[in-house]
Amino acid sequence: MGRLFLLTLEGRIYSCKHCGTHLALSENIVSKSFHCRHGKAYLFSKIVNVTSGEVENRMMMTGLHTVADIFCVCCGSIIGWKYETAHEKNQKYKEGKSVLERFKISGPDGSHYWASHETHVAGSDADDV
Ligand SMILES: [Zn+2]
Repeated sequence: MGRLFLLTLEGRIYSCKHCGTHLALSENIVSKSFHCRHGKAYLFSKIVNVTSGEVENRMMMTGLHTVADIFCVCCGSIIGWKYETAHEKNQKYKEGKSVLERFKISGPDGSHYWASHETHVAGSDADDV
């Protein structure tokens, strides 16, 4: 593999739990009331150092969305998903934004979350109540 060029963030940083690559800043959090298959997830307006997988339509708690899974560019862990298109009018604010699964990332204070045993409907899903 070639050398990776990684962006370095400054501030209150969320990073990949596996390899420590910087992913997002707490000031870019849009909402903390999202869910993934394994518990809490946060919606960010901006993230860095990720690659995205194939775009697909996915039915979520709030309707049909066109999304792509996103991966840490350094270690390849799946860390969340990105909204390409929201098909419901009131979900349009999500377009271009990304969800990071909380248990896949470390918080600004080094905090870790673990996968919870609560289950949510229909695989990975988004919530914006
Ligand atoms: Zn990583």
